[in-house]
Amino acid sequence: MIDLHTDVTRQGGGIGKSLLVVIAVVAVSVIWLLMDEDAGKGLKRQAELKTLEVIGDAATRRLDFGDEGEGTHGSAVDLIKRPIEVRQVADNVYYATGVGNTIMITTQEGNVIFDTGLVLQVARQLQALKEVSDAPVRYIVLSHSHADHIGGTRFWQEEGTEIIAHGDFLEEQRYLSELEPYQYGRNRTLFPWMPAWEDRPDIAMMRYGGIEPTITVPDWENYSFTLGGVEFQVIGTPGAEGADNAVLWLPQQKILFSGDFFGPQFPQFPNVFTMRGEKIRKPMEYVKSLDLLLALEPEIVVPSHLNPTVGAQQIQADMRRIRDAVQYVHDATVAGMNAGKSVYQLMQEIQLPPDLDLVQNHGKVDWAVRSIWDYYASWFHFESTTELYPVPARDVYADLAAAAGTEPLLSLATNYLAQGEPVKTLHVVEVTLAAEPGNKAALGLRQQALQQLLQRAQEGVSNDYEIYWLQGRLADTESRLDNGQAL
Ligand SMILES: [Zn+2]
Repeated sequence: MIDLHTDVTRQGGGIGKSLLVVIAVVAVSVIWLLMDEDAGKGLKRQAELKTLEVIGDAATRRLDFGDEGEGTHGSAVDLIKRPIEVRQVADNVYYATGVGNTIMITTQEGNVIFDTGLVLQVARQLQALKEVSDAPVRYIVLSHSHADHIGGTRFWQEEGTEIIAHGDFLEEQRYLSELEPYQYGRNRTLFPWMPAWEDRPDIAMMRYGGIEPTITVPDWENYSFTLGGVEFQVIGTPGAEGADNAVLWLPQQKILFSGDFFGPQFPQFPNVFTMRGEKIRKPMEYVKSLDLLLALEPEIVVPSHLNPTVGAQQIQADMRRIRDAVQYVHDATVAGMNAGKSVYQLMQEIQLPPDLDLVQNHGKVDWAVRSIWDYYASWFHFESTTELYPVPARDVYADLAAAAGTEPLLSLATNYLAQGEPVKTLHVVEVTLAAEPGNKAALGLRQQALQQLLQRAQEGVSNDYEIYWLQGRLADTESRLDNGQAL
């Protein structure tokens, strides 16, 4: 999934309410159709698509901040700005733009669809691509199980359509479905514009699950087929955005359909760690998958977000840089672990060398270091006995604050802030607030520490999730300060 990151913190609730009213009205009409046995299948599908179109348009308006130009950056606030229209890559290759692209490869014996976008955009993408070709859909290839890549599958699927996905697709769907409330809560912390869990549009057709691949590909293996004289290869490429990544390769034209293998942008440092809390990704699997793709020597890369990249040389150089960067971070982490360094030391020390430099707005190197550590060594870092027991340090914060006294703590936090140590400031502020949650001086210090971190993040690698997290905490701190004043 692209991780929906925006800065819509201050969007008013009024828009949300009107959106929910629209959703409620259309949901009722859909339920009516689902229950009416006389409503034909086609009619039902039309009604569902219409519903999705209305909700999708409303959601798009809600997220569109009216900035000029088309989205070129992999964040949701940018991707949502992309118009939904068909673009041509080669004689037989078209894609409908959107938050996630839906790609269509036409042949004389029917079409192949690669990824099906976000459910809220399926109506417009489907309509646009059907205008190019209304031939039967013979195969749907899914790059992975994230919601922005599978949303339109059941609307594209026809009688006899084969669905090809990675062998772990069902397992990834299962775990994402079972942990949906947990991930929803975390996402909503990052993206406060999302409706509360109980107010979300909980319409059956928008839920995860229910997609059953008819053909699966294992890790690093191919499934090849020929349709209308066009050769296709689906390759299992684990280690990227989820364990169930697959890519599609057109050997005759040397076109690689990469899904999210490279992340929403190409090139960039991959997301080994997701802030919304998915399973840790395995960097060496990623390197092995990337080696397979390097050997193909693609001339065009068509990703499932943003636009294609053309040019064998540039693509090869970019892919190699991503591969070597991941390998570098992995090897440095392992070397540091073996040298007895702490994870925190390694997070500070390990940086990409200049020749492997990549943007880190999606994946962030120091968080990857920590994820690699945890992937290999699990959560017990052998640093303190307390790690083993369910009594975190914060359980003693309130007593610690009482013992130390508020004034000395505030003065310590102020000194840290002045020394340019915002994280140390936050540690002390957390101790203080544990005893006095409404302490305005402590909240003010928290606000300043967060501002310092935000400025550093923006001037540094500008990671979207770090910025979004900090903005969310800052908004929370400011509202607490406002409430304090109102009292
Ligand atoms: Zn995605």
